[in-house]
Amino acid sequence: MNVNLNVSPIESWGTNSKPFVIAGPCSAETPEQMRAIAEGIKDLKVNVFRAGVWKPRTRPNSFEGSGAESLQWLSDIKKEFKIPVGTEVANAAHVEEALKYDLDVLWIGARTTVSPFSMQEMADSLRGVKDKIILVKNPTHPELALWIGAMERLNQAGIEKLGAIHRGFSTYDKSKYRNQPIWQIPLELRRIAPQIPIICDPSHIAGRRDLIADISQKAMDLNFDGLMIETHHCPEKAWSDADQQVTPERLGEILSELKIRTTSSDNQFFIDQLEDLRRKIDNLDRELLETLAARMSVVEKIGEYKKENNVTTFQVNRWDEIMKNRAEIGKKMNLAPEYVTEIFKTIHEESVKKQSEIMKVTEA
Ligand code: PEP
Ligand code: MN
Repeated sequence: MNVNLNVSPIESWGTNSKPFVIAGPCSAETPEQMRAIAEGIKDLKVNVFRAGVWKPRTRPNSFEGSGAESLQWLSDIKKEFKIPVGTEVANAAHVEEALKYDLDVLWIGARTTVSPFSMQEMADSLRGVKDKIILVKNPTHPELALWIGAMERLNQAGIEKLGAIHRGFSTYDKSKYRNQPIWQIPLELRRIAPQIPIICDPSHIAGRRDLIADISQKAMDLNFDGLMIETHHCPEKAWSDADQQVTPERLGEILSELKIRTTSSDNQFFIDQLEDLRRKIDNLDRELLETLAARMSVVEKIGEYKKENNVTTFQVNRWDEIMKNRAEIGKKMNLAPEYVTEIFKTIHEESVKKQSEIMKVTEA
């Protein structure tokens, strides 16, 4: 994918330490609630105070935020606690209101990133705005191009203080997460657009507060730039996302327990060891590829043989046997069965493809 994003480095957001932390309630409920939370986090290393003003709710008749009225509360927090403030915007009218109240950070929610029309409308209303940080959450479904496209629209409108927020993806499968992290998607974003700062939102990935510390640490280990953590002085009573918010005290613990690792080290012994291990990986990968190639030539022979004997390419019993047996063998070698199953699905798919080609060629 050819990505065209010209953004300024995270230092332009007014920080040079990691992680860049955004904390505050899911929703702005009352001025008193906002003050209590701001008071609770004021001595922590929090870079931005967040609160949702317009809340995208899955079903109607839930609390949908206090709208423009609570922009004033955010603006009061900014003045009183001298902290930058931010909220979610979903359309051009939201952008205009938020700019009127001089908010510092605006983010586009997962349900809005999916819509190129909404994204373009907001990009147009932000044209020429240079001093705000604009963050784009991943779309609800796992489509990297849509996430990148949303950022490109903003970038083409001149937004340079631009970043991504990873908040996990909706999937039909049940899991312990509210939204599956599918880490390879933000990592692929990092690979193809390394200039884009990435913030992890463990709150919306987890959906429950006991998983937040682990997800935050994982994000730091993967070299993400920051964290957005929903924080409430009385989480159980929160008007939205009550299960996933943490108290300011807990936020303090999570942040102070984080291990921030560097991407490299000057220690020569470490460098040598790492080089050595990477050589081993390179050799093992070569062996893996040689084995796959050898396997494929046997697959081709079987294909010819099936063709000569008028037998179908796909035999369900054999496939079933392979899947079960490989997962079992892998398990004995300490490999997760889901991992082994996934690999063999891919191998089998390619084998079937190859044998189908053989059938076609010899039939022609
Ligand atoms: C939020 O940050 O409160 C929110 C609604 O998040 P998301 O867009 O990730 O669901
Ligand atoms: Mn929320």
